[in-house]
Amino acid sequence: MSQDSNVNIVLKVEGLSTVFCTEDGPIKAVDNVTFLLEKGKVLGIVGESGCGKTVTSLSILKLLPNNAIIDSGKIFFNDMNLTDLNQEDMRLIRGNKIALIPQDPLTSLNPVYTVGDQIREVIELHQNIYDDKANKRAIEVLSQVKIPNPERILTNYPHELSGGMRQRVIIAMALSCKPRLLIADEPTTALDVTVQAQILDLIRYIQKDEGMSLLLITHDLGVIAEMCQDVIVMYAGQVVEYADVLNIYKDPLHPYTIGLLKSLPTQDKTRLEQIEGQPPSIGSLPSGCYFEPRCIKRMPECKTVSPELISMSDGRKVSCHLYK
Ligand code: SF4
Repeated sequence: MSQDSNVNIVLKVEGLSTVFCTEDGPIKAVDNVTFLLEKGKVLGIVGESGCGKTVTSLSILKLLPNNAIIDSGKIFFNDMNLTDLNQEDMRLIRGNKIALIPQDPLTSLNPVYTVGDQIREVIELHQNIYDDKANKRAIEVLSQVKIPNPERILTNYPHELSGGMRQRVIIAMALSCKPRLLIADEPTTALDVTVQAQILDLIRYIQKDEGMSLLLITHDLGVIAEMCQDVIVMYAGQVVEYADVLNIYKDPLHPYTIGLLKSLPTQDKTRLEQIEGQPPSIGSLPSGCYFEPRCIKRMPECKTVSPELISMSDGRKVSCHLYK
């Protein structure tokens, strides 16, 4: 796992809390999240829907909805504290040094502009190259994501392309300014199963080839196993386990991580195990450990005392009273 002293840290998130202001009062969607991502490495964030994965990535990019704020914590990209930057400064970094591959390629592309218009716009905004040179760069990045006949694709509108091709276009846009940090938020969720593996292979190949750092958000531990070196498991807005991928699979610590792994399909399983119950609504969290109502190892104190994220001797971190 990444160590704080490492000079190669690209992204450092320290005690991040993000709050939504609602009619029913403030709701903490991300609660005291801390992690590091090294240069050229892949860190996964895994958890069920609503656990705070996407809000964490939107907080890093400062793309939160109007009713949400970063309540506390700091986010460093290299040595730059992103939490201090205004939207104008962030606009120069987003799509340039930090790029996002979102979930749904159709809603992320503007239907009334051609693929070429949209890729060239990103290049012109951040690279100060225009006309033929911007066009040449657009063709280059479309070739990089293995789109056949890129000159023709530049003239297409998004609706003229398949889901897989649209996601390749999104990846090409993300790569067009050679970002140092790529954030991929469930990048294959909206795609057919047959295309998902191709897109993940493409992201993995490009990440290695370009030496980028990748923050990969997914609900799928199988994807984490294939792509990541380190992983954060989130539950109800909090980090419950933070470890390197080998240890997570070999010897998971947190009962939630153990449950997630048991629910993974394997060849020798005749039926999949489920974690009983549902994740809590972030608007009405239980007292004590948030996982307590679903935990098969719960103890009396779990109902009232919140566990802290503690470091184990091997550097892993876990938030559970079993490891005090
Ligand atoms: Fe289960 Fe208690 Fe650990 Fe929470 S703190 S995960 S309830 S054992």
